[in-house]
Amino acid sequence: MKKKQKNWAKDMALQRISRLFELAEHEFRFCPERSHRYVRLARRIGMRYRVHLPGELKMLICKHCHAYLVQGATARTRLQDKNIITTCLTCGEQMRRPFTRR
Ligand SMILES: [Zn+2]
Repeated sequence: MKKKQKNWAKDMALQRISRLFELAEHEFRFCPERSHRYVRLARRIGMRYRVHLPGELKMLICKHCHAYLVQGATARTRLQDKNIITTCLTCGEQMRRPFTRR
């Protein structure tokens, strides 16, 4: 029973996280600052319930300043050798992801 409750909480947390990302995406046009707040909240929910952010959502947050990344607005992505380099335009830091074909 206890385990079931825990799974339920984690499921709830994931739902709240994806909802916050939806809101962040929607709000970005009107108030980018609010989007940053939403994704920071999402991160905190993830930590609180110890759930990992899904990979595709993780890519939308700057690893350094936790800003919401929007291509062309707050992030720039370039390919370099075998890496995908995303530059956060808020703090100027770079994030690298290997670019490999599975
Ligand atoms: Zn940043």
